[in-house]
Amino acid sequence: MNLNLGISFNETIEKQVIANLRAFSPEGKTLSDDKLVKISSKSRILGAVGHTAGLPVFPNVRELANPEFVSQCDATILSRGMFVPLRRGNNRILLAVADPWDYRADDYCSLSYPNDIQLKVVTMASEISAIIEGVSNSSGPSQATLEAVEVDEFAEDNRDFDVTCNYEETIAQLVAGMVADAIKQRASDIHIKTEKTNFQYCFRIDGDLRQRVEMPLKLKDRVDAFLLNMMSLSPEERSKRPGISGRFTALYYGRSVGVRYERHRTYRGYHITMRLLDKTHLEARLGMGTLKFDKETLFQLEAAMAVPSGIIVMSGPTGSGKSTTLNAMLRELNHPEDNILTLENPVEDEIPGVTHCDLRDSSEFKPMISSFMRSDPNVILIGEVRDRESAELAIEAAITGHKVLTTIHTPRASLVIERFQQLGTERWKIAQTLKAACAQRLVKVLCHACRERTDGVSEHDTRLFHLDPSWISRPVYVHRDGGCHECKGTGYIGRSAILEILPISPKVGDELAKGDMTPYELEQRVRRDNKIPSMRESGLKLLAEGKTDLEALRKQLDMTYES
Ligand SMILES: [Zn+2]
Repeated sequence: MNLNLGISFNETIEKQVIANLRAFSPEGKTLSDDKLVKISSKSRILGAVGHTAGLPVFPNVRELANPEFVSQCDATILSRGMFVPLRRGNNRILLAVADPWDYRADDYCSLSYPNDIQLKVVTMASEISAIIEGVSNSSGPSQATLEAVEVDEFAEDNRDFDVTCNYEETIAQLVAGMVADAIKQRASDIHIKTEKTNFQYCFRIDGDLRQRVEMPLKLKDRVDAFLLNMMSLSPEERSKRPGISGRFTALYYGRSVGVRYERHRTYRGYHITMRLLDKTHLEARLGMGTLKFDKETLFQLEAAMAVPSGIIVMSGPTGSGKSTTLNAMLRELNHPEDNILTLENPVEDEIPGVTHCDLRDSSEFKPMISSFMRSDPNVILIGEVRDRESAELAIEAAITGHKVLTTIHTPRASLVIERFQQLGTERWKIAQTLKAACAQRLVKVLCHACRERTDGVSEHDTRLFHLDPSWISRPVYVHRDGGCHECKGTGYIGRSAILEILPISPKVGDELAKGDMTPYELEQRVRRDNKIPSMRESGLKLLAEGKTDLEALRKQLDMTYES
């Protein structure tokens, strides 16, 4: 089992922690262990850990840390043992630990500060990670390091790549620094590109490519060979195949981050994309953080999930957070009494209790789904409906009584039926099995430290985006050009999802099957019946609340489309 604290305890301790958690929870008596952990907040679980260990609990210890003191410690040792000595004085040392039963913290302190009295507090693993990260200076490789690379250094064959370690081999140090910097900045992807006269990498952060770093051209083959070696792919492969896929795990201050690697040949060399599957922000939950939808949308989503069989489709372009939302839905549907199977390309976020399968080749699709159907499933997640075959199989699974979650590429939720039809599915089949069609976008959130207030939207923009004239005198916030230190010069921090849901009731389904409702009529009808906001309305709400600006909205939504 997983207590969701980012570390694992042995079974005996875990049992005691759960027993204490149960004792503190008013609703605890009737729930199974799994369910209890699922509904408990992280701070409550942490409280149970502290109680079990007989230690005080401090969920936030960052303010207590003396950065100068912490920076003198060895970051590698701290992150391996998940502890931080926070400060020292009067022969006392204040120590924060994530795992009170790990001996490494005691060993380290009694060796380094033998005369001090240890005062230990329990905190979140993420808190410890953040403190160590804050004092370390991993800001990518310096130009001096890059220029200094000369001769043959080799990487060992190792799929776990500790990116916060110091490496003697310069190429290893260069790649480690690049990956560590990307994780630190919460990038979703790293791109490494070769062109005629230059070689560079950049990060995708909150949807935009940023921070181009030039590397000496002479390193291009070495970087390539290092990555291929690390994933045990032979460098000869690169000449044989146009595209190469792989994956490895980056260790970042004791935390593992999955990295999906994709390389294709280009005219001047190659282009590598590394997607960082950082679970700390993947573990999103419906209604919280990035997925904080409005009440009615959330209610309708939960209602669709409660229908025992049928299809729920998420639509939206690549990078709109479709799979994050689907995974959050799977977390909600994840009960020990249900069998949940997924077929993804690739698996992005492993949920304990869910059987994840990766699609290695499109020819595997049909046999895998057929095998799923014989494996007594309750819920099936099909990564993407992209052709006639996958559309048919998704519908077949729903007709035979399964709950099916999937994604499809359409600009609007109301076009899902048309898209299935286009792929060759009979209209009545999709109309009768579809329970909800959703569309999602991720909108950049303004940096609170530097956003700027304006008196209203300009008259020009009001007309351009079909806004009500009242916006002209309604104060809104915009991002500051050049940003500030907090947002690393971008003006925005993080993103917020806006979701539009069209629930398909049996009655609406019947009308859709007959074919006498256009997508636009469907939108109007469902909104009138349910008072559910459209993506545009949710976007404008974020604008009114000062969470985003028009510039960020118009990049994600067709604001000229009135709905
Ligand atoms: Zn800022």
